[in-house]
Amino acid sequence: MARRMIIPPTRFPNAVAASYSRAMAQMIQQMHSITYAALLKSIAEEVRIYQNESYRADGPLDIIWNALKFAKDRVAAQIFNPAKVVEVASQFVSRVNFFNKRMVNNQFDGRVRGFDPTEREPWINDYMKVSVKENVSYITKLQDDYAARVESIVMQGVKNGQKLTDMAQEISKAANISYQRAKFIARDQTGSITGQLTAKRHQDAGFKRFKWSTSHDERVRPEHRGYDGKIYPYDQPPAGKLPGVPFNCRCVAYPVDDEE
Ligand SMILES: [Zn+2]
Repeated sequence: MARRMIIPPTRFPNAVAASYSRAMAQMIQQMHSITYAALLKSIAEEVRIYQNESYRADGPLDIIWNALKFAKDRVAAQIFNPAKVVEVASQFVSRVNFFNKRMVNNQFDGRVRGFDPTEREPWINDYMKVSVKENVSYITKLQDDYAARVESIVMQGVKNGQKLTDMAQEISKAANISYQRAKFIARDQTGSITGQLTAKRHQDAGFKRFKWSTSHDERVRPEHRGYDGKIYPYDQPPAGKLPGVPFNCRCVAYPVDDEE
């Protein structure tokens, strides 16, 4: 009689998602404080001109505009520069891969097929490259979106005669949108990469089917709650998507032995 093996469950790397989110939040915080400082400086400049009643070389819009342009260039050079963005994205993708590789190794541990399924992975380098590139574009977009929001706040604000302090408050809200977006990217990407790596590695180990498992909390979408505990072939996941791959999904795939 075949010996029954207990395969450790597939896990979602929450800590990796959290550290990626933190890394992006730190960049956003730095970007925001540079922008904020530039804006405050332009307020001070306005006040100085007003008090001196000196000739205005620049209108208030020019002063604010120059300050924001200065901030944007500085953010691009110091915070969201290509080297830094690539570093954050690479570190994240490597961590997800490391976690997943160790986990899948643990699941099989040579007990099932008698070899380490993650030892030979000719596809991994290309996969990592593509994932890093994708995340680089997400991180870069954080800066672009924030800058676009700030620009529109300032344009609208000046046009409507809004006080700079009110504009500053709106810019803080723009930063909050970026923090939320970073959190989403971190979780969404962790799920997608985990889902794809798990599927590839399970199949490389000879497992053609998986059992869908949700995170069993109230945030699981109803559709996925319906999949929970059910077995699907890897080449035909429900709705064409592997666990973890749909938007913001935290579900995982447990390997299912063919005899099961
Ligand atoms: Zn899900």
